[in-house]
Order: sequence, then structure tokens, then C-alpha cells
Amino acid sequence: MKKTKSFMSNIIIFGIKYKIKYVNLLSDNYLGWFKPIEQEILIEHTLKGDKRMKTLIHEIGHGVFHTTGLNQTSIGYDLQEIIVENIAQAIVQNFDIKPKK
Ligand SMILES: [Zn+2]
Repeated sequence: MKKTKSFMSNIIIFGIKYKIKYVNLLSDNYLGWFKPIEQEILIEHTLKGDKRMKTLIHEIGHGVFHTTGLNQTSIGYDLQEIIVENIAQAIVQNFDIKPKK
């Protein structure tokens, strides 16, 4: 059987490389998980298309908050969630995004 290439296996946020792993997160009620210490982004493996891209952009948003120190400010986690989710939603509603080669 031919092995299918995964969608994206790495992403770079401000020069830091994060490995993207497609795993079962639904059982823990997550779609994505930004893990800065492990330098990983976990994405629920059943997500496809816009839902997968929206989740990836959402987690990149968390990466931006982490890398820039915004998560050390008075912006709480709940507000961070609203910001990253709505930016991700607006981007996927308006653009067809594909990974750079
Ligand atoms: Zn989030």
C-alpha cells in the first residue's frame, strides 16, 4: 500500500520550527494543541480541508502569542482563545490557503 504523505509535517513561527503531529485529540475534547516546550503542534487527525486549516492557523496564533510574549501580558487565556479563533475563522472564510513547498 502506498503511504500517503501527511498534509504538513512542520511549521515555522518566528524562526522556531514546530513538528505537526496528527493525532486523536477528540477523545480529550480538543481539535488542536500548541505545545511550546515540545516544539509540537497537535492536530486532530480526522480534520480535513478548511477545518484542518482553521485549526492549524488557530494553533499558529497561540504560537505567535507565546513567541512574542503576548501571553505574558494581561491578555488572559480566554481572550487569547477568542482572538486566535476569530482570526483563523476569518482567514479560512476568505482565502484558499496551501502550504509553501
Ligand atoms: Zn486555542
